[in-house]
Amino acid sequence: MIQRTTFRVEARPSDIPSKTWQQLLSDSVTTPEGLLRSLGLDPDHWLAGAESGHRLFSIRVPTPYLSRIEYGNPQDPLLRQVLPLADEDHSQPGFIQDPLQERSATQTPGLIRKYRSRALLMVTGQCAINCRYCFRRHFPYAEHRLSARERSDVLDALAADPDINEVILSGGDPLVANDQLLARWAQDLEALPGIRRLRIHTRLPIVIPQRVDAALTDWLSRSRLQTVIVLHINHPREIDASVRSALIRLKSTGATLLNQSVILKGVNDDVDTLASLSEGLFDAGVMPYYLHAFDPVSGAHHFDVSDDRARELVRTLQSRLPGFLVPRLVREIPGEAGKTLLDLEDPAGYRRPQGA
Ligand SMILES: *Cc1c(COP(=O)(O)O)cnc(C)c1O
Ligand code: SF4
Repeated sequence: MIQRTTFRVEARPSDIPSKTWQQLLSDSVTTPEGLLRSLGLDPDHWLAGAESGHRLFSIRVPTPYLSRIEYGNPQDPLLRQVLPLADEDHSQPGFIQDPLQERSATQTPGLIRKYRSRALLMVTGQCAINCRYCFRRHFPYAEHRLSARERSDVLDALAADPDINEVILSGGDPLVANDQLLARWAQDLEALPGIRRLRIHTRLPIVIPQRVDAALTDWLSRSRLQTVIVLHINHPREIDASVRSALIRLKSTGATLLNQSVILKGVNDDVDTLASLSEGLFDAGVMPYYLHAFDPVSGAHHFDVSDDRARELVRTLQSRLPGFLVPRLVREIPGEAGKTLLDLEDPAGYRRPQGA
């Protein structure tokens, strides 16, 4: 307990009634000009030539994330993840629109079957932040807005398939959906005897930590399903005090927290950053899980890190950290039943997918 002093203290920002996550989401910065200006950077200089990239895939940066970007630093690793560069417009051979071929894996609207025991359920097409490197940036999300009929088709398909024991809520970012809708999915999934685990792949607790509110922790704590939350954090500075406490609240629901990152040039392609990311994750109760080798999505080739460089980084990480803090270096290859582990010692044992 903090002792009350006899002095009157003026209202500080923490005393001002805080905004809900929905308000914070709708208050996001949505233009590159607005983003740069709020960081004291000159839009005329930094946007020269970057005309169409952000029209194809718009900007979205909520203010809690924006507040972690260093003012006046155009090279900031958090800024680099959200700022469209002129490079986005230059197409490159081998960088394609749907590198994971998810379109062909759609089973019934909203339900994607890529893995034997897990099904992906697309609950919303929206994300809380638009990441420039995203492999889903060209995905036709609008197809996945479900009618009541489609919703029951999804449940029927899940009930009919004895192989599936885990449902992965995906998107977009599934936590953009409201808790009423999510709790209803959880309830309906609980009614299916074959389903044991509910997994949520999300970046929202990082982008807007206020998302981890009582409504969310309530239904998560109540579920009979084991819940696994896979966060997506690429840089240690994405975890500030408010994110750390949001993650601790999430973990207190009984959920297992894992993290996946993408290796990105100019963001986290050095060993000090990756090591401090792993340490920061563990401090917040999150286990490092995957480090994704870069997928050749068109418009994002300026983030490309070679597989050899990625291997070297993870080998160095292994020599520095306990094994449980070293993420698995993986790539998702279309048509494979799961992620493909990149062999750290034997580059010949693994080939990049065609076209890359
Ligand atoms: C890899 C991945 C999965 C499947 O994860 P596993 O842990 O390999 O089962 C699900 N959703 C997304 C977005 C992924 O990247
Ligand atoms: S939050 Fe995830 S799905 Fe959404 S744009 Fe970022 S990386 Fe892509």
